[in-house]
Amino acid sequence: MVETTPIRFFEHMPSQGELVDRFDRRLTYLRISVTDRCNMRCDYCRPAADAYKAEPHSQILTFEEIERIARLAAEKGVNKIRITGGEPLVRRDMPKLVEKLAAIPGITDLSMTTNATLLAKYADALVQAGLNRINISLDSLNALRFRKLTGAELAPVLEGIQAAKRAGLAPIKLNTVLMRGINAGEGQSEVAELIDFAVEHGATIRFIELMPMKYGMDWDKHYISIDEVLAEPGVSERIDLTAVAENCNTAASYLPLKNASQKVGFITPMSERFCDGCNRLRLTADGHLRSCLPADSELNLRDLMRGSGSDDDILAMFRRSALMKPKIGTYAFDKDSEQRSMIHIGG
Ligand code: SAM
Repeated sequence: MVETTPIRFFEHMPSQGELVDRFDRRLTYLRISVTDRCNMRCDYCRPAADAYKAEPHSQILTFEEIERIARLAAEKGVNKIRITGGEPLVRRDMPKLVEKLAAIPGITDLSMTTNATLLAKYADALVQAGLNRINISLDSLNALRFRKLTGAELAPVLEGIQAAKRAGLAPIKLNTVLMRGINAGEGQSEVAELIDFAVEHGATIRFIELMPMKYGMDWDKHYISIDEVLAEPGVSERIDLTAVAENCNTAASYLPLKNASQKVGFITPMSERFCDGCNRLRLTADGHLRSCLPADSELNLRDLMRGSGSDDDILAMFRRSALMKPKIGTYAFDKDSEQRSMIHIGG
């Protein structure tokens, strides 16, 4: 449900102070989706080809609009921005946006999540523009499996990882969505191999539980919990499962590796919620503010801005979005709802 209620009701809200929600969580992290287009076809992220329709370009925020929103958010305490999508690097001139965002006072951590297919081309320019860090999605090291899952080739992704290293984008985080029968579970597991790959490349790997989306893959069939994955062959040889998990106030918790300095991360949106420390707001590519990934309520910031909304109006909408943030995000997606797929929301 995309809410379009005018903000009149909130126009007398104070416009000072940081963004804090009803549960005293300070919202300091803005995830900005810059496009709802992607050069991959991952079933879990986007509706099948016939159901997928990207927004027309005119509905997507311009770089100037994104910069204005980010600047205002930074004035209210946002210090961390992640650029995502869709695939952010399919949007033209991405280093120019990075440069604009990196120049905003108060932004101390500017990162990007990418599938890395185009990273070999852009890594140096992104670093020069001011990008601090990068997260790369990598669900398989098997070229055939990778192609089947994503519709894309693995080789450019591996080149992208090398390019990110050379460009000095450290630390590189690799994100793997776990899917039973595809890259996890009996007879299919790539967990040990992916850990070894991360170690070899000096990267930190994080395993993510598959989230159910209305569109896309059959969640019941492919979901596997992190606990089950930790019992897979080869895992206890590599990860110190007796250690106390470290939770650096992020969505991921980390365990140490036995024979390497890196840690391994686990993101458990399904088996163990991490909402208590949530500090995030999301901005979709078409300019909607979304305060919680699974809660399908959004505020239309784009139309407000294009209808000549003032800076105070924009900040009032930020506050309203903060107040809409639920205590706990629930992933019980209703198949009949108008829920947006991940590619539309921005992962
Ligand atoms: N295109 C970029 C990429 O591939 O990293 C950025 C966008 S993508 C939507 C961001 C992240 O969301 C990826 O790591 C992807 O694996 C994850 N993701 C998408 N759908 C998901 C789902 N249903 N469950 C868990 N993670 C998902």
